[in-house]
Order: sequence, then C-alpha cells, then structure tokens
Amino acid sequence: MSVNKRITVAKGDGIGPEIMDATLRILAAAGARLEYDIIEVGEKVYLAGNNSGISEESWEILKRNQVLLKAPITTPQGGGYKSLNVTLRKMLGMYSNVRPCRSYSPYVRTNFPNLDLVIIRENEEDLYAGIEYQYTPEVLVSLKYITRTGCEKIIRYAFEYAVANGRKKVTCMSKDNIMKQTDGLFHKVFNEVAKEYPQIETDHNIIDIGAARLAADPCRFDVIVTMNLYGDIISDIAAEVSGSVGMCGSANVGGSFAMFEAIHGSAPDISGKDLANPSGLLNAACMMLVHVGQGDIAAKIENALLKTLEDGIHTGEIFREGLSKERVGTRGFADAVIARLGEKPSTFKVIELEASKPVKVEVGANKIKETTLVGVDVYVHHSIQTSMEELGSKLNEITAGGNLKLLSITNRGLAVYPKGNAETEITDQSRCCFAVNKDFPAIAQKEVINLLANISDAGIEINRVENLYFFEGVRGFSLPQGA
Ligand code: NAD
Repeated sequence: MSVNKRITVAKGDGIGPEIMDATLRILAAAGARLEYDIIEVGEKVYLAGNNSGISEESWEILKRNQVLLKAPITTPQGGGYKSLNVTLRKMLGMYSNVRPCRSYSPYVRTNFPNLDLVIIRENEEDLYAGIEYQYTPEVLVSLKYITRTGCEKIIRYAFEYAVANGRKKVTCMSKDNIMKQTDGLFHKVFNEVAKEYPQIETDHNIIDIGAARLAADPCRFDVIVTMNLYGDIISDIAAEVSGSVGMCGSANVGGSFAMFEAIHGSAPDISGKDLANPSGLLNAACMMLVHVGQGDIAAKIENALLKTLEDGIHTGEIFREGLSKERVGTRGFADAVIARLGEKPSTFKVIELEASKPVKVEVGANKIKETTLVGVDVYVHHSIQTSMEELGSKLNEITAGGNLKLLSITNRGLAVYPKGNAETEITDQSRCCFAVNKDFPAIAQKEVINLLANISDAGIEINRVENLYFFEGVRGFSLPQGA
C-alpha cells in the first residue's frame, strides 16, 4: 500500500477558501493519497503586522512538506507589503513557472478551439529582483537582473519539459534587439541549449510581436520559454484567449520545492457568493498529483472535470444560453465532478494515466575565466540647463595628462557629447564614459579611484559608478545610442 504524501495547503483570501474546499472535497472523493497541514497566509497575516504575509511557523511547515497547494491571496494596497508569491518563489528556489493553457471549446467560449500551449516563465530574476533607486529629482532606475545560470536553468527546464511531455516545439521570446546584454544573453543561451535537443523544433520571437501573435493566433505555439516580466504578461494573454481565467492552473517548480495554484486572483467581487469556478485550482491540484507520483488520480479527476464541462454543467462565468444545461455554483460544480469520477469524456480526448515526469535540470559551471576592467561609467547629477559641451570640456580638463579619457557623455542612453543633437531633451543625470580609447585596453582599479577623486574635487556630483568589463574579449556593457 502506498504511503500518503503530506502537503501544505493555504486557503488564501476572497474566493480562496471556497475553491479550496471544493478542490479538497474532489481530491478526497477521487482517492488522492494525501495528508494536509493547513497554514494561514495572505491578507489576515499582512494586516496582523507581518509584511511578508506568512509567519515563521508556516515557513517551517512549508519547508518540511516541500509541496504547497495554494489558493489566491489578496495583497493589501500600499503599506510596504511584500508580494508573498514573489517571496515564496525566490526563497524556495522555485525558478520555473509552468502554465499550461488549453481550450475547452465548444463548452467554454473561445475563438481558438485548438489552443493547447504551455508557457514556461523564469521566476526569480529580471525586474522582479525589485531593486530600484531614485538618483536625482528626475531619474529613477529599476535593475533588470539576469544571470547566465538563471537563463540556462529555465531554458533547459523548457526543453526537458517539452521532451517529457511529448511537445514538439519551443519558442523563445525576448527583446534582444533593444536589451542586447540581458535579453541578448537569454537568446544566446537558448540557441546554445537548443543544439542539444535536435528533435525539438525551435524559434525566437521578439516579445512584442510574440505577444501580438499569441493574442491573434495562439495555436501556432507549443511551449514558450521567456523571462519573468514578459512571462507574467503573456501568460495572462494566453489564459484570456483560452476562454476563462477561471480554468487555468500553474506550477512553480524548483530543485526541492513546488507550489501549485490557480492563475487567477482572489476575485473579491464574487467572494462568499458560491459563484467561483474551482477548475483553475483543481487543474493546479492535478499538476500537483502528477508531481507527487499520483498521475492515476490526476487523470481520474481531469476526465471527470472534462465530462462535467461536456454535460453542460457550468459556473456563471462560462455559462452560455443554448449550450450550457445547468448553471451551478462552486459547491454544485464540485458535486458534479465528484458524481462523474470514474467516467470518461466523449467529445474531449480522454486523459490517460498521467505518469510522473520529473523534469531534472543540471547546469554546468560558468566557463568564463578572464575578466578585464577597461573603463568606468561615471553618472553625474547636474541641472537640466547644463550645457553638455561645458560638462564635456570640464571633464576633459580634469582628465588631461591621465591615462583615462572621456569617450562620450550620454543622457537617457543617447549620445550628447562629443557628438549630439541640439534637439535632445536633457535630464539631470548624465553617463560619462571613461576609458583609455575606443579599443578599450585593460586599466587598473586604482585609475578609476583616482579619476573619481578628481571629478569629485572639481565639484561635480557623482551619484552612480559602473565598472566596464570585457569577458574573454567580449564587451560587457552597452555603447551609447546615436554615437
Ligand atoms: P482576479 O483574477 O481576482 O479577478 C479578475 C476577474 O476574473 C474578476 O471579474 C473575477 O470575478 C474573475 N474571476 C477570477 N477568478 C475567477 C473564478 N475562479 N471563477 C469565476 N470568475 C473568476 O484579478 P484582480 O481582480 O485583478 O485581483 C484581485 C486580487 O487578487 C488582488 O488583491 C490581487 O493582488 C490578487 N491576486 C492574487 C494572485 C495570487 O495569489 N496568485 C494572483 C493574481 C491576483
């Protein structure tokens, strides 16, 4: 007899408790071999003064059980509350967000009856590092953090997922025509890893056209792998065009931990009214069952869910006069699924036993050995009336006779000195690039320190400094636009 798997359950806020109760009832009726530790997360915990939305004791339970089934939560507005989802994903190393999206046509209205795709979104990096600064009254920056290991992990995961799940094609989406360093690395690593999977078709879309195609023609995609922010946006597009945000589940997976949830939020507008569709959380629970090796139970539940939809038993948001037969609430929908456990759909493809397909990813060590310091970008704060000619001349005077020379001044990334455009609107911070010359030979750290002291002594306010490096001969910084 197989042993029950102990998991953690969080019932969340808004419609969370209703859809979780419905889901747990279906899991029990289907014979899921599970035991639960129930923890409190979300709004009540935030409002009790814990701005991470989770208590220390709950952390311990989470870490012990390693698998979390979580209903949506409400993050109170303002007040410095941290997103619990982002915290959980990062603290527990759940680097991969997996969102399958399919159509349930004709029972759920969609323009794309053949839609069946999976979005694999990187979960730990990108602008979600949440590192932001205000440098001047005018200028604010949010850091887009990308690592080679982070790119490789998620891209390998996408290919391994495709192989394990019989998918044929992986599409990479990035914006490397603009962000040549960060997005450029993501695309480059994709091309490198793709070579190891010749059986999988691959392509790359710039994220803007990719998102447009996803909205207009989603059936062209199979597996999409992308960075954190783009993935956040396009997975909502995919869910929306599939017919209902209430239907999709998602998995957050890492080396040791996994969290399963519906993709929708806590829907406060319908909370407590027995109106919510529990299918999104139920689909997430089925992904969890596959993860813990109970694919037989997952298939049983999925077939009963498909049969319920086919029989026209629908919650309000998917109910269609003429096609639907019975409008039910959350509890009624769960009862209908339970009554159909053991039955198979007749229109939809029957889900066969879902074997556990663990996706294991191994990432090699970074092979770059040689890092060469070649210059420095010194960001200076000045008034918006400052003439770039004057600033440039002053910096040239400061560096006269020294090894480091001023190569360019840029303002919001655009070259304004020595060549610029009179029409360019200047803001109150400029990036002043210093190096020996445009071939960027190596320099010593001490030269940077001396330069900074000289600039500061001349009364110029430095508010940010970036070292410029080459990595094995490859430039690791962007050049000015329009130079
Ligand atoms: P939402 O997904 O809660 O609701 C959007 C719309 O979809 C609403 O009209 C809602 O009634 C409907 N809807 C959502 N789920 C449904 C379901 N299961 N059945 C039927 N209809 C459903 O998005 P929102 O209104 O932007 O956010 C509400 C709250 O949820 C916010 O506090 C937000 O921060 C939070 N949120 C939490 C998560 C999470 O915990 N994973 C994710 C997204 C949003």
